[in-house]
Amino acid sequence: MEIKIVEALPKYMKPKPDETKLGFGKHFTDHMFTMKYKEGTGWHDPVIEPYHYLQLDPTAMCLHYGQEIFEGLKAYRGKKDEIYLFRPMENIRRMNASAERLCMAQIDETVFFDALKKFVLLERDWIPREAGSSLYIRPTMIATEAALGVHPSSEYLFFIIAGPVGAYYAHGFAPTKIYVSEEYVRAAMGGTGQVKAAGNYAASLYASRIATDMGYTQVLWLDAREKKYVEEVGTSNIFFVIGDELITPPLGGTILPGVTRDSVIKLASHLGVNVKERPLPITEVIDAIEKGTLKEAFASGTAAIISPVGQIYFHKKEYIINNGKTGSLAEKLFHEILHIQYGSKKDPFGWRMQLA
Ligand SMILES: *Cc1c(COP(=O)(O)O)cnc(C)c1O
Repeated sequence: MEIKIVEALPKYMKPKPDETKLGFGKHFTDHMFTMKYKEGTGWHDPVIEPYHYLQLDPTAMCLHYGQEIFEGLKAYRGKKDEIYLFRPMENIRRMNASAERLCMAQIDETVFFDALKKFVLLERDWIPREAGSSLYIRPTMIATEAALGVHPSSEYLFFIIAGPVGAYYAHGFAPTKIYVSEEYVRAAMGGTGQVKAAGNYAASLYASRIATDMGYTQVLWLDAREKKYVEEVGTSNIFFVIGDELITPPLGGTILPGVTRDSVIKLASHLGVNVKERPLPITEVIDAIEKGTLKEAFASGTAAIISPVGQIYFHKKEYIINNGKTGSLAEKLFHEILHIQYGSKKDPFGWRMQLA
């Protein structure tokens, strides 16, 4: 399928933002990719054109029944202006897994990758140079059939937008404070917790607000059935170092299979760390903090890569982890992954994909 490219006229191009004040999710590039789907016709009209508003019928099914999925990945600029993606095929496959779970249309992996590549290369001037900054890419699919009545939509819109984002920790790591939600849950077995469906995030906001009101950065989610096992932190996966083991909950249907999670597991094992994917009761975490065997905790995700945890609130008590400081393993993994992403070190795993 040939992607049509309609470039924005120079006079309509946006000025590039100050790279030292990018933040996250505030700036977007000059173009976007779109492609439409219709049952019987399949995907058609792939085009990269100037960034624009979407026109939707008020009955577009995404607005009523929540068929919406997305992905998040980044493009990085190397020292010699090389352009890299990090494990993009993982995001492409995960998007199709999300589509399958929500009865949405599958996208051919080759077409998806071609769109990603052409779009990033067209927007390459938008990939920032500042240390730790990158171009955040957001592929999204929404149901667009104009009809009420609950059924899988017969029409979809797939689009890709992107925007420059700053280093998450411009002034060094800032360990987060997390709040264990004992009342609200993120995902139950048989639900949609393992896919990147927009509805999961809407459902998580209430508990997040409680955590924020209590002065915490994120929610630590427990399993829905017993409220016993740790699952994820906010929209990131979670890791604990207890004794000489790096422990993370196993993927079992309620946990999002993070690309960063998988990279942390493989990289840590490669570095000789004893990694265990096993159910981890919150009481074991608390006991280990009290006994002093819990050395560090951190979350993993594309936005921050590694986010150290310095404090946990559980059962009306506050527990400090590693004196509220960033652990040495978190720091090591963070830098190793960054080196691979920016092309400043060898990539023994074949994760980095050079576009230019
Ligand atoms: C996106 C996401 C993650 C992290 O996935 P990455 O591929 O590492 O960015 C973890 N948990 C949830 C709920 C997510 O939405």
